[in-house]
Amino acid sequence: MKKEKLLISSCLLGELVKYNGSHNKLDETTIEELKSKFELFPFCPEVEGGLPTPRVPCEIISLNPIKVIDKKNNDKTNEFLKGASKALELCKKNHIKKALLKSNSPSCSNQYIYDGTFSSNKIKGVGITVSYLNSINIKIYNEKELNTLLM
Ligand code: SF4
Repeated sequence: MKKEKLLISSCLLGELVKYNGSHNKLDETTIEELKSKFELFPFCPEVEGGLPTPRVPCEIISLNPIKVIDKKNNDKTNEFLKGASKALELCKKNHIKKALLKSNSPSCSNQYIYDGTFSSNKIKGVGITVSYLNSINIKIYNEKELNTLLM
């Protein structure tokens, strides 16, 4: 039987794409279960948008218009938009309807983001890539919602 397709934050699979050069790898059992149920499409919007790893952490400081800066006050909006566009295209091209994306990321979060002050305060909101994927009704899960995804 053909497996359902799933876009997945590549850091959740252990790829060293996180801003600090590390990853957010899920446990092996979970990764095996995901592989058995889904055809995985690993993707890191920030790397695909052209940002290096490691990189200075970024936060969204405005949604209208969208503006993302790094902690050194450099404007990284274009890189975030480019990564989000590429994620959107990948999903459209491959008819992907679900995504498992890392929480709290300015790209990947589906519930909370940092508030743009680089002081660890979180507010309700979604990452730039998630806002693009929401526009074509991709169902987004984060790593704390795995039970629902794997039900
Ligand atoms: Fe992981 Fe997304 Fe951050 Fe890339 S942008 S490191 S995939 S949370």
